[in-house]
Amino acid sequence: MKKNHLLAPGPTPVPHPVLEAMSKPLFHHRTSEFESHFADIRDGLEWLYQVKSDVITLASSGTGGMEACVSNLLSVGEKALVVEGGKFGERWTEICQAYGVIPDILPVVPGHSVNIIDLEAKLIEGKHSAVLIQASETSTGSKHDIESISRAIKKVSPDTLLVVDAITALGVYEVQPEKWGLDAVVTGSQKALMLPPGLAFVWLSDNAWNRTEKSNCPSYYFNLQIERKSQKKNTTAWTPAISLMMGLKVALSMMQEEGLENIYKRHARLSKSTREAIQSMGLDIFTKDLIAECLTAVEVPEGINGKDIPNKMQSDCGVTIAGGQGDLSDKIFRIGHLGYVDGDDVLIAVSALEKTLFSLGFKFDKSAGIAAAQRSLLG
Ligand SMILES: *Cc1c(COP(=O)(O)O)cnc(C)c1O
Repeated sequence: MKKNHLLAPGPTPVPHPVLEAMSKPLFHHRTSEFESHFADIRDGLEWLYQVKSDVITLASSGTGGMEACVSNLLSVGEKALVVEGGKFGERWTEICQAYGVIPDILPVVPGHSVNIIDLEAKLIEGKHSAVLIQASETSTGSKHDIESISRAIKKVSPDTLLVVDAITALGVYEVQPEKWGLDAVVTGSQKALMLPPGLAFVWLSDNAWNRTEKSNCPSYYFNLQIERKSQKKNTTAWTPAISLMMGLKVALSMMQEEGLENIYKRHARLSKSTREAIQSMGLDIFTKDLIAECLTAVEVPEGINGKDIPNKMQSDCGVTIAGGQGDLSDKIFRIGHLGYVDGDDVLIAVSALEKTLFSLGFKFDKSAGIAAAQRSLLG
């Protein structure tokens, strides 16, 4: 028998009460029963987002939420400034291209956070309808300072919308859509929300809702205005992912029970203990500036084939982590610690990593990582 441990930066482990809620017999969605559950869910989402207005639920993976932002907020031929610091930044560019929106790319060296002076200089150069960015760039472990970026945009280009992919940030560390003056914030179900993939969430500011009136990009399934009209009445335009939403209701109440401050503290503790373990093993953290607490990105040590690390951790230890994406595919590996994860999961990941590196011939102090993680977790 081998026990499996899902410690990737998405999908993340699903708690038992959530699985249970999703396994209940199906019921019809055009009923007062569904509407009553959806009313609770909408309240829970507003709590999670810390907002006073509609968080729209879509039946899609997170990318659908990103696409909805581009197709509802922008118009064909308009320019959007895309902060591209990794695979998910590139996704914004590709979505723009699919809709005829012109991406003006601000490249960021992978593993670094965007320099705000560079961002301001770009914004001053030309008329950008929006800035498209990740709060946490999951492919590199970096986070961008969204609060300062929002302030900078308001200073140099106040008509530009700030559209944030917060898919591995919301429910991990502080993101304040209203307080920071953000315009669109997207998340997905399979990261911090402790659910299987299949739901995306989008919140828009009043300015962004006004912009949806002017957008001329085609949209049908992801028409946010049509969804808002339905969802204000606690129903959805199309058939909702009923079972996932029943799981969502339970996941949100688990998060509310823990409290946002405690959720942030837990992720910070998991991030710190993982990082200290990695460094004690003589490995280097890939992320250079601001480190997102959702995952730890590690440089593959010299002499080791990068893909062997996640592959062997999976086959020998049943521990799922992630390799690098794109150009980073054999240069880094990424340990996820977001969502339904605690300190013991970090110990499992570090222990499996030590076993794996030992078997691959890497020379290091054999239990230094696990000792450092335990020391950090015990505080
Ligand atoms: C997971 C993730 C996404 C969404 O990807 P899907 O596969 O469509 O769910 C988007 N952006 C970031 C930063 C992510 O981590």
